[in-house]
Amino acid sequence: MKFRMTDGRDIIDFIRPLVNLPRSATGNGVRRTLDAVSQRLPIEVREYASGKSVFDWVVPDEWNLRRATLSDSTGNLLADTNDCVLHVMAHSMPFNGTLSLEELMPSLYSNETLPGVIPYRTSYYAKRWGICLSHEAKMKLKEGSCDVSIDADLFAGHLTLGELLIPGKSTDEMVISTHICHPFMANDNLAGLGLAVALFEWLSSRDNRLSYRLILAPGTIGAITWLAHNTEHAKQSIRHGLIATCVGDRGVIHYKHSRSGEATIDRAVKSVLESRKIPHKLLDFSPYGYDERQYNSPGFDLDFGVLSRSPNGGYPQYHTSADDLSILSEAAIDESLAVYKAVIELIDEQTIPQVTPTKATPIGKVYRSTNLMCEPMLGKRGLYKTTGGAVHSPTRELALLWVMNLADGHHGVADIVQRSKLSPAVIDAAVEALVGVGLLE
Ligand code: ZN
Repeated sequence: MKFRMTDGRDIIDFIRPLVNLPRSATGNGVRRTLDAVSQRLPIEVREYASGKSVFDWVVPDEWNLRRATLSDSTGNLLADTNDCVLHVMAHSMPFNGTLSLEELMPSLYSNETLPGVIPYRTSYYAKRWGICLSHEAKMKLKEGSCDVSIDADLFAGHLTLGELLIPGKSTDEMVISTHICHPFMANDNLAGLGLAVALFEWLSSRDNRLSYRLILAPGTIGAITWLAHNTEHAKQSIRHGLIATCVGDRGVIHYKHSRSGEATIDRAVKSVLESRKIPHKLLDFSPYGYDERQYNSPGFDLDFGVLSRSPNGGYPQYHTSADDLSILSEAAIDESLAVYKAVIELIDEQTIPQVTPTKATPIGKVYRSTNLMCEPMLGKRGLYKTTGGAVHSPTRELALLWVMNLADGHHGVADIVQRSKLSPAVIDAAVEALVGVGLLE
């Protein structure tokens, strides 16, 4: 093992053995992934019991998969997680049975628009099981019975996350956070994990002004769990943050702004991209995407941007088996890593002045969220889908997230319409639904 990872090749070598681990929101797939990180960095691994309340959410059951298969009546394997772990819906209930094709159909997940790939699906809270397969394979299924075996445990266990603090001269912190719950997929998000590990190997060799914290947590629930257990510390010490995700594909670099849009991190990233003449696209903040949603929730309002190559949902292989190692480019990872390092150097030198964002007078009726800390769990209120992994969220769901993110007393309904670029009717309907469940007042 090389002492320190320095380039795209090292990072791809590091993530290759992790591809087919059965990662999900909880369980041994996450633990084994963190074990691999522990070989390189002295991370602290923390466990949080299933059922524990974290703000509006609950830590889900632990899920450990051994193997899932689908086979026809003559025993031919049609799907096998030993080949690709995406063949099972993450967090599927254990199941063993023989079903007719008609009985099986509601539990099969495929992607009609990309018929050759296996889609990524999750169900962390609603108890169900699913087999995911390519649409081509699904269309070839013949009348008759099929055997389904999902050899897994779903039980009250723990959620696992990892973190590392590299203290600097100041207790002010910059955070790099990345999700570690996605099975199989390389760009989203093993590349982000590998880059973050390489970055912290580099940071531990530097003499830093700021303290640097690495948070490796399952998406959404992991970040919420971390924030729920570090609330006061986060508010007092975290000054800047980046979500390291989708950093390895051949698309141009994208930077998604923090909620304020004019934070130090926003200006530092733009300064590096412009001064180095790196082709890039800038995206406004939106409350849909990765864990920037939680860090930028109104109760925290931490300045987190997302520095990626293609953004979430922005490349055809996203959330499918085609997001494999072949879409990664060593040169792209090299460039991503260089940009991350340059941004950190700039912020650490304190050459970017801090600007206090201006708080404008709200336009339109002002609602206040009753749930300012992280996103509310809309699924338990029947306002959000209970399976995850779909590429696009319906406009109705986006509107709910926008209203919750901006119902902080500083934005009126007209401001929300303007920032979300959604129609007034859609925002009004979201407001009504959220008032109805007591999330707005
Ligand atoms: Zn994803």
